[in-house]
Amino acid sequence: MIHNGYNPIQSGFNNADASEARADAREARSEAEQLRFDVNRLLMITEALWGILREKHGYTDDELVRRVYEIDAADGTLDGRKSRGPAKDCPHCARKLARKRPRCLYCGKLVAVDLFEP
Ligand SMILES: [Zn+2]
Repeated sequence: MIHNGYNPIQSGFNNADASEARADAREARSEAEQLRFDVNRLLMITEALWGILREKHGYTDDELVRRVYEIDAADGTLDGRKSRGPAKDCPHCARKLARKRPRCLYCGKLVAVDLFEP
């Protein structure tokens, strides 16, 4: 029985396509699980580092909250995110730099990378 006018045979959708779609879905799920794991691990590391700073150096939670607020608000929008700034120019050849690349794609020279850019 065909629902909603969709006929998988007439559409050219076959078992190989379905198998490929399932493999893609498995891969996407696996990547999402890995990212969730990584984020959780980074949260634990951040919490541990914050605990050290608070206990050994006397920083307060209010200071941390204020800093996070400042970083969030720096782009003019309080949305719980840090937005990307515009792409920067290479200081050596003045062409646009690719994000998070330690070298310019055009001239090959090392450039400073913003470690906290999303
Ligand atoms: Zn360059």
